[in-house]
Amino acid sequence: MPAHVSGVLHAGPSPVWLPYPADVNALMPSLWGASVAKDDAGVLTVGGCSAPWLAREFGSPLYVLDVADLRARAEGFVSSFGAAFAAVGGRARAFYAGKALLTTAIAGWMAEAGLGIDACSLGELLVARRAGVDPALVGLHGNNKSDAELALALDWGIGRIVIDSLPEIERLEAAAAARGVRAPVMVRTTVGVEAHTHDFIATAHEDQKFGLSLTTGQARAAADAVVAAEHLDLVGLHSHIGSQIFDAEGFEVAARRLVGLRAQLQAAHGIEVPELDLGGGFGIRYTSQDTPAAFAELAEGLAQVLARACREAGTSLPLVSFEPGRALIGPAVFTLYTVGTVKRVETGAGVRTYVSVDGGMSDNIRTALYDADYSCSLASRDSQAEPAVVRVVGKHCESGDIVVRDEYLPADIGPGDLVAVPGTGAYCRPLASNYNLVPRPGIVAVEDGRAHWILLPETHEAMLAADPGFAATAPEPAEPPRRAR
Ligand SMILES: *Cc1c(COP(=O)(O)O)cnc(C)c1O
Repeated sequence: MPAHVSGVLHAGPSPVWLPYPADVNALMPSLWGASVAKDDAGVLTVGGCSAPWLAREFGSPLYVLDVADLRARAEGFVSSFGAAFAAVGGRARAFYAGKALLTTAIAGWMAEAGLGIDACSLGELLVARRAGVDPALVGLHGNNKSDAELALALDWGIGRIVIDSLPEIERLEAAAAARGVRAPVMVRTTVGVEAHTHDFIATAHEDQKFGLSLTTGQARAAADAVVAAEHLDLVGLHSHIGSQIFDAEGFEVAARRLVGLRAQLQAAHGIEVPELDLGGGFGIRYTSQDTPAAFAELAEGLAQVLARACREAGTSLPLVSFEPGRALIGPAVFTLYTVGTVKRVETGAGVRTYVSVDGGMSDNIRTALYDADYSCSLASRDSQAEPAVVRVVGKHCESGDIVVRDEYLPADIGPGDLVAVPGTGAYCRPLASNYNLVPRPGIVAVEDGRAHWILLPETHEAMLAADPGFAATAPEPAEPPRRAR
């Protein structure tokens, strides 16, 4: 993690990107779910429920999902991409990347909005199946798929199994042959470009575990092997270039290279691969620093990119698919915390107020893991106090246990106040841990003044029950547990 040098990057204890707020009680709407607002008393409300009521009823920390926001975002993505590709004479569809956050309810809402579901484990497949998702609209990813995962994919009849290595082709062929079925296969390629927000890095060596390289011919070899396999159908070519991408430009190289491979396969085998998948990675706004394009703008840009690539290659426009995760679920969720200890620390460049909350890196590891920036707001009341530079930290035994590195909150923030952190829908609960034996929080979904658990919180009782002690108290298992491959 890069060290933060104070004095150079900072004017006082706050970073230069963080403006002094005109009104420290106000919400920046673009960071929050569509139904989130503050009432006259400064109390944060979502879907017609107030934050203090949610904390009383459901406890804290708590992940709060704005259902109306999720629906609108998912429908907006589908309609924007549908319209933009129709305008260039093509067709687009989307698969929600379940790894961002998947529960039965969320899978159901995504399916209702017209999305498929991408899974990359047995657990994610099982949740999608229980949600009643049409298997034709389910994909399976993964660089090390288990036999059990391949078996469920074939037995349930999912629409796309995304091959990530050459040995996997043989394994899948054998599994499909044993069942007397044909398996729909996509080949995941690495296209030699890696995207990080505004930076697109050409990666000549593609030194990573995912995908089959286009430049070394591995992707072509895999596609040839799939075409030759008796029980496999080549239904698409896939590329995923990165995450938190703000515009369509970065997809240009990936699109051109996938279209190029598709043209080669047409020349070699006389087949038109029906679908190209450009993956996910569409960015969201965590703080005022982030400037993602709107879905409509992205969709138009991507439709142009694909149309141009196909025109240049002299090929037809295939069905094009996308795999948004973060962009659909991220802004729909905020985390609600209760403030405990407040400590003022002299930094050398001014005072920083450390606001300790009742969760931390166990429910949001992204700040520590990716150096991610978040924002937050006092959720339980208005304040007339001056804005103070705060760092919201957790209750864990790590100095890196930071939730929000830099933000302004009212200087009178104190024990019992509620703080809400927006943009925590993606990659927070799925990456949560039991560090310090803290139970992982549940998710409450809120709409029209009603609130329901869609994922129950863990309990200390369940944690203790899973820890029976040794020998004297624990019964021996009849057989040593074996891991399914
Ligand atoms: C992670 C991932 C996604 C989703 O990425 P987001 O940044 O959440 O949109 C899509 N496709 C693949 C293959 C992924 O690994």
